[in-house]
Amino acid sequence: MKPIFKIILAVLIIAGLILTLKPNNNEESSVNIYSSRKESLIKPLLEKFTEETGIQVNLVTGSGDGLLTRLQNEGENSPADLFLTVDAGALHRAKSASLFQPVDSRVLNANVPAHLQDADQQWFGLSMRARTIFYSNERVEPSELSTYMDLADEKWRNRICIRSSDNLYNQSLVASLIAHHGEAATEEWARGLVANFAREPVGGDRDQIHAVASGQCDIAIANTYYFGGMTASDEAANQETVSKVNVFWPSQSEQGVHVNVSGIGLLQHASNPDEAIQLMEFLVSEESQAWYAEANQEYPVRPGTDRSEILTSWGDFEADTLSMSVLGENNAAAVRLMNRAGWR
Ligand code: FE
Repeated sequence: MKPIFKIILAVLIIAGLILTLKPNNNEESSVNIYSSRKESLIKPLLEKFTEETGIQVNLVTGSGDGLLTRLQNEGENSPADLFLTVDAGALHRAKSASLFQPVDSRVLNANVPAHLQDADQQWFGLSMRARTIFYSNERVEPSELSTYMDLADEKWRNRICIRSSDNLYNQSLVASLIAHHGEAATEEWARGLVANFAREPVGGDRDQIHAVASGQCDIAIANTYYFGGMTASDEAANQETVSKVNVFWPSQSEQGVHVNVSGIGLLQHASNPDEAIQLMEFLVSEESQAWYAEANQEYPVRPGTDRSEILTSWGDFEADTLSMSVLGENNAAAVRLMNRAGWR
């Protein structure tokens, strides 16, 4: 071989070596997450995670049901490692569709209370919301209020606003009442509640709270973060509503206030499970917990984490410690019961 060819060969071998090695150096580790939460409620945290670990995070946002269908259609070809969504009922649906795999993490177990995670460790709560009573501070004395069950009393005839029974939040509330009071008593309650509706269910949680302020009803049942968002908002309509409506914590001498979670699970076909678990653990760190909860006026799941100023202003309450798993398990019974009770 001529010297020139030897040199060319040597150059080619070295170039080949560099090319084979380079992809490994360049190949950044990454994690892919499907999320039904608004981008602004999670993106800054994901960026912080990348900054700290060098792991890239690819975020796909969409509706909870849409992403669940997408995950089912993609099957083992899905690029997703993690699924983040709201309501224990929705997390239970994903679990029932065999989308998740269990995660045994010391960090997750130490920071997410047992009742706020799946009994089989297939998903973990990240933030908590309460579904509570909002009342008119002009037409209702807080001393008249007591428990969820009391809302079926005829003293509340034509005075209650709540959204429809196809809403998962209401289904989870009823699922919790079934667990505490049994199906028969809960059905009787639902009939009484429906009889007390001020109007046919219409709109979302915010609409029910606004309806209390505008005088269409005296009481609404809604999730706390909607009222938190109104309180933080400088829009006149929201400020007007906040000035006329107060928060009440029901069932304090019974099971406590019904709570639910936003949560996350590691997907069955995750191709980056180590990075995904690292991200799950990052999301329950004290700093992440405080930020993530405050971004949507929710309660942190990690005990001892600071709450937002607005949440603190509503005072402390006893929360129901029923396992979130039960909300999913009782979902079908809750839906049937609400239908029988005529809850549209
Ligand atoms: Fe919501």
